Amino acid sequence: MRAVSRRARVVIVGAGPQGLTAAVYLVHAGVDPSDIVVFDPAGAWLSTWRRSFGHLKIENLRSAAVHHPHPQPYALTEFARARRRASELHHTYSLPSTKLFDDFCSHVIDSMDLGGSVRRDVVLDLGPDGAIETQSGERLAADHVVWATDPSLPAKEHQPGRSIRSWDDVDLERCPSRVAIVGGGLTAAHLVERAVEAGAHVEWLTRRPVVLRDFDTDPGWLGPKEMDGFLAEPDPRVRLDRVLAARGGGTVPPWMMNRIARAERSGRVCRRVGEIAVADSDRGLSVSVAGRRVHVDEVWTATGTRPCVSSAPPLDRLCHMMGAERISGRLVLDSSMRVSGSVVHAMGRLAQLQLGPTAGNLAGARRGAEAVVGAVVGVEAMYALTSI
Ligand SMILES: Cc1cc2nc3c(=O)[nH]c(=O)nc-3n(C[C@H](O)[C@H](O)[C@H](O)COP(=O)(O)OP(=O)(O)OC[C@H]3O[C@@H](n4cnc5c(N)ncnc54)[C@H](O)[C@@H]3O)c2cc1C
Repeated sequence: MRAVSRRARVVIVGAGPQGLTAAVYLVHAGVDPSDIVVFDPAGAWLSTWRRSFGHLKIENLRSAAVHHPHPQPYALTEFARARRRASELHHTYSLPSTKLFDDFCSHVIDSMDLGGSVRRDVVLDLGPDGAIETQSGERLAADHVVWATDPSLPAKEHQPGRSIRSWDDVDLERCPSRVAIVGGGLTAAHLVERAVEAGAHVEWLTRRPVVLRDFDTDPGWLGPKEMDGFLAEPDPRVRLDRVLAARGGGTVPPWMMNRIARAERSGRVCRRVGEIAVADSDRGLSVSVAGRRVHVDEVWTATGTRPCVSSAPPLDRLCHMMGAERISGRLVLDSSMRVSGSVVHAMGRLAQLQLGPTAGNLAGARRGAEAVVGAVVGVEAMYALTSI
C-alpha cells in the first residue's frame, strides 16, 4: 500500500444501519463528527435499507421501537410522541412505521452533525494498522476502522434462468400474471403482497410450512437469558451452531400472515409446501412442489443470504494476513469486535460468533457499537452518555 495522505480517528466502511449506529454511538460518547470518515458507494446514509423498504413498500419495521441507531432505547418513542406521531407505532410491540423510522434516523444524523460524513467511495485495501486505500485513490491512516458492509452470499443457489429473479431485482411495475415466489420469510411475504396488489396470481412456495414468529430471533437473545450462556461458550463452532439454531429458517410475524390469509381466501395466493424444482424450457417455465407441477411466468426468490467475509475482499485479505480464524464465513473477533492484532473492528452478521444471532439487525448493531466505542474512547466514557 502507498504512503498515506491524511489521518482519521475512525473510518467506517459502509453507511447502512450498522455503520450509522457505530457513528452515532461514537459521537454520543464524545468523538468529534469531523474525526469520523464514512465510505459508501451510494454517498449517503442508509441507501440499501431505504431502497429495500421502498421497493417492497414495507409499511413498518419488524423490530420494536426500542431498536434504532441511538443509544437511548426510548429515543424513537419520544421522537414520535413529541411530534404527535405515536399512532405510527404499530401492533402489540410498537413497531415503527418506515417513515417514522426514516425521519428519526434523519433527525439523529442531523443532530449529531453526521450529515456530511459519508463519502461516495469504495474501500479497496485495508492494512492491520488502519491504512486504507479507496477506489478514488484516497489514502488514509485510521486509528480505528469499523467494517460494516454486510458481505454475504445467497443462502441457497438457484438454478440461473432468464425468468428466475431475486426479490430485489424484480420489476413490480411490470408484474406478470402468474408468479411463483420462493421463500418462507417476511421478505417473501412482502413480495407476495406486492405481486397480488399488482394483479398477479401467486404461487407461494416454501420447503417447510410457514413458521409464525413475531421477531426474527427469540427476544431471549436480546438479554442475559440466552446471551450469558452463549458468551460463556469458548468454542466458536458451538457458538455458530447456537446462532444457526436460533435463527432457523425464515419466519413470518402473525400480523403479516393475517394479511396473506385474506389474499388466500380471495384465491389470489396458493401456498404450496415441499421440495421445489424449477424447469425452464422451450415449453415455458414451471415449478414443481412435492411432485405437483404448476406453470408460471416468472419465479421470484427471497431465500435469504448468509454472511461471508470472502465477499469483502479487503477484509478477507486482512484476515488471511493476520491468520484470523473464520468459521463458515463469520469472523472470530476479540471482545472489542477487532480482528486480532489489528485496529479493524467488524460489525453486523460477520460478528455473529461474538454478538449472537441478532448481530445483523438493529439490536445487534447497538451491541456491536457499544463494544467499538469502548475500544475507541475507553470503557469508562460509556457511562457518561448524555441525551440528544
Ligand atoms: C427487507 C428487509 C427488512 C428488514 N427489516 C428489519 C427490521 O425491521 N429490523 C431489524 O432490526 N432488521 C431488519 N432487517 C435486517 C437488517 O437490519 C438490514 O439488513 C440492514 O440493512 C443491515 O445493515 P448493514 O449496515 O449491515 O448493511 P447494509 O444496509 O447493506 O449497508 C451496508 C453498506 O455498505 C456498503 N458497502 C459495501 N461494500 C463497500 C465497500 N467496499 N466500501 C464502502 N462501502 C461498501 C453498501 O453499499 C451498503 O450501503 C431487514 C432486512 C431486509 C432485507
